[in-house]
Amino acid sequence: MSTTPSAAVVKPELREKLAECQRQLEELAAQLPDALDDWSAAERQVREGVLRLGRSLLQAWSDSADRRGEAPQCADCQERMRHKGLVSGQWATTLGAVQVRRARYRCEFCGRETYPQDAALRFGAHAVSRPLAEVIGRLGAQGPFAQARQNLKWDYDVPLAKQTIQHVCEEAGAKQLEREDQQRWALAALSPQEQLQQLPDSELTPKKAYVYADDTMIHTEGDWHEIRVARAAAVDAQDKVLAVEQRARFLSCQEFGWQLLLLARRVGYHRAAQRAFVADGAHWLWEIAAFHFPDAVQILDWYHLSEHVHQTAAAVYGEGSSAAQDFQTGLLEDLWEGRSREALRRLRQVRKPLRARTKREALRKLITYLENNRSRIDYPRYRALGLQIGSGAVEGACKTLVGARCKQAGMRNWTRRGAEGVLRLRAALQTGDYHDLWTPPKETAA
Ligand SMILES: [Zn+2]
Repeated sequence: MSTTPSAAVVKPELREKLAECQRQLEELAAQLPDALDDWSAAERQVREGVLRLGRSLLQAWSDSADRRGEAPQCADCQERMRHKGLVSGQWATTLGAVQVRRARYRCEFCGRETYPQDAALRFGAHAVSRPLAEVIGRLGAQGPFAQARQNLKWDYDVPLAKQTIQHVCEEAGAKQLEREDQQRWALAALSPQEQLQQLPDSELTPKKAYVYADDTMIHTEGDWHEIRVARAAAVDAQDKVLAVEQRARFLSCQEFGWQLLLLARRVGYHRAAQRAFVADGAHWLWEIAAFHFPDAVQILDWYHLSEHVHQTAAAVYGEGSSAAQDFQTGLLEDLWEGRSREALRRLRQVRKPLRARTKREALRKLITYLENNRSRIDYPRYRALGLQIGSGAVEGACKTLVGARCKQAGMRNWTRRGAEGVLRLRAALQTGDYHDLWTPPKETAA
């Protein structure tokens, strides 16, 4: 975009503007206290002063930077657009508010106007720089938007509307998801042979790899909807976590299967010596397991099983009663030790004399649940293999990824796209690759 002749004058021009910065620095030094005991005051003054100075420097640089570029083509008429002078705008940045002048172009045929440099200067259509958008996304993914707004005011002295913060977060996540969706759709459209070649690889060769799947409810667009949580994790021989990938999405069963496969490939599932698919009892999840992960050990998540037993105990004997506690402890012990036959016998015995329909129904459900998952509750075997069974890793994902950000008081006004977007940012924060979302995407196969 920039051309050399004027680039040579940018720095000299900038140097001329540094007098103002110099004056500010001298002023700051003059105002600092004399005694070492006044450290706190000095630290605060220096921090504020340096931010002010930084703002001036960024402003001076922005005023002198080479802003010429090639005239763009009109997106509608394909005609070369005409330069219409510079237009000033005010951006919120990590250093505070800065004025930006950038070129405006106009199509002589249809009147369309454009600011071609805006894509590099700001985040979307917001008067917010991209580095600040990265901060906004982090704060908005960590907690309520109102809280993010307060923190931005305190730490960066940028007053932004709560709505701006929400939109920046949702758009940042949605952009990432759009890219991922494109990749997934492209992959699903290929022949099985081509799919094998196009699936992403990983540099990891883990000892064990786990694929977890679960769902949870969140309130979007006026009602409760099920959002699906996919998680893949790779660990070494000492069970140290090497990589984790997770997503919370409103996807169809089929799409969710592909999502799981892609996450699994990224953590090196296909290179792992041991592979497990851990999920709650839902039938469609085991279908995904059989289709995409045929060589995985299928395990009914111990956490879900325990929860189910707990609910049944409460329904039959009353929440918190000692009879409920005894029933639960005995049953879980049988299941933990792999005595599923005994466990089922125990349940049928309990059910036999009962009259109350709700109690009979609760027991029937648990019996069916265990029978349907009989091949997935051999917990002594999984333990012997060194596989995690009771990690609650998915339940953890549901709670820490989705619940803590979308299900607390005052967190009900989500659109589906908005919730997915914010949760995409949150997932990246939790797995430690949030910053990568803000670096331009590389052209990769999948
Ligand atoms: Zn035009």
